[in-house]
Amino acid sequence: MEKSGEYELDYWSSVSHGDTRLTAKEAQEINSELSLYDLMEVGQRLTSRQVGDVVSYAISYNINYSNYCAASCPICAFYVPIKTKGKTDRGYELSVQDVGRETEAAKKVGATEIHIVGGFNPDLSLEYYESIFSEVKKRLPGITLKALTIPEIDFISTTTKNSLREVVERFVKAGMDAHTGGGAEIFSPEIRKQITTPEKISGEKWLSDAALIHSMGIPGNSTMTYGHVEDWPQIIDHMIRIRDSQLETPGFLSFIPLKFSPENTPLLKMGKVKGPAPADKDLRVIALARIIMGMAIRNISVYWVSLGKEVAQVALGCGGSDLVGTAFSEKVFGATNRTEQTSTEELDHMIRESGRIPAVRDTLYRIVRYS
Ligand code: SF4
Repeated sequence: MEKSGEYELDYWSSVSHGDTRLTAKEAQEINSELSLYDLMEVGQRLTSRQVGDVVSYAISYNINYSNYCAASCPICAFYVPIKTKGKTDRGYELSVQDVGRETEAAKKVGATEIHIVGGFNPDLSLEYYESIFSEVKKRLPGITLKALTIPEIDFISTTTKNSLREVVERFVKAGMDAHTGGGAEIFSPEIRKQITTPEKISGEKWLSDAALIHSMGIPGNSTMTYGHVEDWPQIIDHMIRIRDSQLETPGFLSFIPLKFSPENTPLLKMGKVKGPAPADKDLRVIALARIIMGMAIRNISVYWVSLGKEVAQVALGCGGSDLVGTAFSEKVFGATNRTEQTSTEELDHMIRESGRIPAVRDTLYRIVRYS
């Protein structure tokens, strides 16, 4: 079918709007055929049809319980090798009391959710996680607890010799409401080999673990880390696999593309990357996410911490419908020198300036209030 000009924009906007699943070939085609401007236009049209004018954000507070890690992913600037424990003062493990203090700080900033992640720390028991989750819920009973990445949960299951199902059941009893969706990186095995280490689960395992957790009624986000050594086919493959998983076992609340931040990472030191991805790639990724996810995942989140505020604002005009987030106290991206802060007032302002309506949401993407 010939597609050109306005007709081409209409064609792609309709192909990816309904129940039709855009194929990898079509996604490649749209990405290579359309100019950045036209791709953004399709993303914008779909956003307007699928979610309207509202851009949401959660008031989120991050707690990073430990930076010791048994893995040593070249894309990570946050970890301290677990084998150096006792020989370095760079590593830490938060006590239950520390987590209690952090929770009080979250209360002061009016957080609606607490986001807990850390390294793969084999010294921490299942009971440790249960007690920090219970501590959060004891101090803030109404808060939503978004806890751990899927690879962390899998690592805990392996090291404590409990099935994934048992671990999740115990965590839910202790207060976990959702998983964070992190650790997906890029599913392509060739790329994954270059940016992670064998301690981190494969893309297939990430997807099957997510499906199991979702089948237990626990939702979470989905993510993709891009802008390192991958190329468009792997980006498109990753998004399509997340969408297809969602259509089979729903449970993803949103899709969050995470731009790789190279500062202080081994990948930069090894010379495998030269710097952050250019802004046009960021905008293409957001627009493609909107187009590929279609009605399967309608919340496309823009992670301003890694994009920067200006690009994030533009991304709201080509597919983004959510800003992540307030990220108070975030340390994982902070380790790559991305320490920009924000406030709810500034997020409201950024959203209004881009012609949209700001709203505070909860973890399940339900609107709590319009700002
Ligand atoms: S990305 Fe996660 S698993 Fe990999 S080194 Fe960093 S903290 Fe550890």
